[in-house]
Amino acid sequence: MIIAVDGPSGSGKSSTARGVATRLGLQYLDTGAMYRAVTWSVLEHGIDPADTETAAARARDLQLAISTDPQHQTVGADGTDITEAIRDPRISESVSKVAATNLAVRAELIRRQQAIIAAAQQTGGIVVEGRDIATVVAPEAELKVVLTADQEARMARRKAELAEGAVSAEQLRDQIVRRDADDSTVAQFLVASDGAVTVDSTHLSLEEVIDVICRLAKE
Ligand code: C5P
Repeated sequence: MIIAVDGPSGSGKSSTARGVATRLGLQYLDTGAMYRAVTWSVLEHGIDPADTETAAARARDLQLAISTDPQHQTVGADGTDITEAIRDPRISESVSKVAATNLAVRAELIRRQQAIIAAAQQTGGIVVEGRDIATVVAPEAELKVVLTADQEARMARRKAELAEGAVSAEQLRDQIVRRDADDSTVAQFLVASDGAVTVDSTHLSLEEVIDVICRLAKE
């Protein structure tokens, strides 16, 4: 079984997808973490994120190790544990430049994502979260969910993830608006694909969203 969970940043995708995978005993893949890992490596090598060819070569050469255990997320790049480092604001600011418009980077990561999904199919299945899962990476998914939330709810969730006072409300709003704009090319993949179910999480708790998706998965 493959469950695709697509949605914009701050829609609650990660917690939801991890919760669904844990409850249904499935593996879990955070495709955003893979784009973040390539971005980390691009910056680490002093490559300009706008230099598409060099960034794509880096993506192809990168030894990327991502765990698929929903309760124990680890990301490794060329032998370095970057689980924490990829959440740095520096990465969040550059990731869209490396991910959204660089088709060669996307092709490389989509190939790797499809290999991870195929392997997981042998052991029961996987919940995959991202932007283009239902439309591009795994259109064969049995369940396709597009998770949405209004801008205020997404801001509140991002704020809860950050340290107290780390950024102001205005900075947070700017970041979300900017990332939505930077990701607008990826948003073309976010249009509801055939048979996708839209779940608006604005007024639902995390547990309620997980319930809804688990119920859909059992239908
Ligand atoms: O989900 P997360 O916010 O960690 O994703 C980081 C970035 O990776 C997104 O802002 C987007 O630019 C990119 N991304 C993508 N396609 C995906 C997942 C993430 O382009 N499937």
